[in-house]
Amino acid sequence: MTDLTRLTISQAREKLRGKEIKAGELTDAYLAAIDAANPQLNAYVAVTHDKARAMAATSDERLSKGEGGALEGIPLGIKDLFATEGVHTQACSHVLDGFEPRYESTVTSNLWADGAVMLGKLNMDEFAMGSSNETSYYGPVKNPWRAQGSNLDLVPGGSSGGSASSVSAWLCAGATATDTGGSIRQPAALTGTVGIKPTYGRCSRWGIVAFASSLDQAGAISRDVRDAAILLKSMASVDPKDTTSVDRPVPDYEAVLGQSIRGMKIGIPREYRVDGMPDEIETLWQKGIAWMRDAGAEIVDISLPHTKYALPAYYIVAPAEASSNLARYDGVRYGLRVPGKDISDMYEKSRAEGFGREVKRRIMIGTYVLSAGYYDAYYLKAQKVRTLIKRDFEEVFAAGVDAILTPATPSAAFGIADQDMAADPVKMYLNDIFTVTVNMAGLPGIAVPAGLDSKGLPLGLQLIGKPFDEETLFRTGHVIEQAAGRFEPAKWW
Ligand code: GLN
Repeated sequence: MTDLTRLTISQAREKLRGKEIKAGELTDAYLAAIDAANPQLNAYVAVTHDKARAMAATSDERLSKGEGGALEGIPLGIKDLFATEGVHTQACSHVLDGFEPRYESTVTSNLWADGAVMLGKLNMDEFAMGSSNETSYYGPVKNPWRAQGSNLDLVPGGSSGGSASSVSAWLCAGATATDTGGSIRQPAALTGTVGIKPTYGRCSRWGIVAFASSLDQAGAISRDVRDAAILLKSMASVDPKDTTSVDRPVPDYEAVLGQSIRGMKIGIPREYRVDGMPDEIETLWQKGIAWMRDAGAEIVDISLPHTKYALPAYYIVAPAEASSNLARYDGVRYGLRVPGKDISDMYEKSRAEGFGREVKRRIMIGTYVLSAGYYDAYYLKAQKVRTLIKRDFEEVFAAGVDAILTPATPSAAFGIADQDMAADPVKMYLNDIFTVTVNMAGLPGIAVPAGLDSKGLPLGLQLIGKPFDEETLFRTGHVIEQAAGRFEPAKWW
């Protein structure tokens, strides 16, 4: 019998609709795979066995009548940042211990309305702050990929490390994720999966635990470009509960797959060639350029001159917003409460015990850059830089460029507890060097697996698009996927 967990969403959809398989069987196959693998990979922080089986049974009823939504019976994993009614929602933080919301995020509501089945909640960096999934209160997630001939455990990237690891290791058919500075695209690149971060405003942020509200955006991690298109179609919507969500029809993203990219202009930004970048990344980028050219696209050199300021500006704007968003965790309203001698003492003790090191670092940086006397020098300056970064992109698109091709990450997956990164948080921050600009400008970006490095680890390429032009990303991303082929880890877990 074929292993049902190996089916992509589009393949499973066919078989479910054709009544070749049942949603119940598919869900049971995933639950069994999770129960067997999770003690090693630590991708899930909560598995909702009963809920999954009940949802699958409902799907089977609908499917038997020839009914059902776009994702009917498809088992998904949900990043722990999305509020799921009555189910563990802790942003993988100790401070949210025991929090089970009484409401459902708009994105997950959309998925369930389309018939998807929830397998459980996925591990992530605490409050989505990190690039390796090592800041989670629940411990690190392992990457299902290992270097050839090595049994060293590697990080899956972050913050959506559980999403990326579970998709790559066949522990869900697809996963939700969020991206504030690269948290969908970087882990996708490090695990050989596809990650789509749509335009700011494409998906509602309602019911997603806030990190940096002007940058956060929900998206999907999947096994291939088609599945990413299918998931985003269901996730995206305008929402009266999020005034930054945008009222534009959601296109049928799948319909563009396979359309020619002949005549499209693909920009290659010279500033994305950074010092110390491994040759393999440059080689991969050149391969991507050749694939685009072979498919009929015109390659143009472009300049995005403010790129070098993106990371420093991000590490002012994101912590500033985080320090404000995280002020609500005070031991009164949600989760953990550590008793104190009076109310201030209780606040202080709850926050001191509840937040991890990286989250505290961000709160302190954020509070500092927003404080009187420093606000103009840091926060306001960073906002101005942000405008310049956005303008760089606008000028390039106005000059006729349809999409921008870059590497997705500056390296392949690194080891868990990597000494260099542990000693210097800035080294960790550098993982997002190619992805943060996209959030600063509110643009859509997709990471697509494009090859393996000399150690056999996956590497990804990123495509950046115009606002609300996710279709071009799926179209061009599909060309890369067709040329590069698909990559799967060797199972050891
Ligand atoms: N790694 C970046 C950070 O730590 C981005 C995280 C994200 O996109 N959520 O802030």
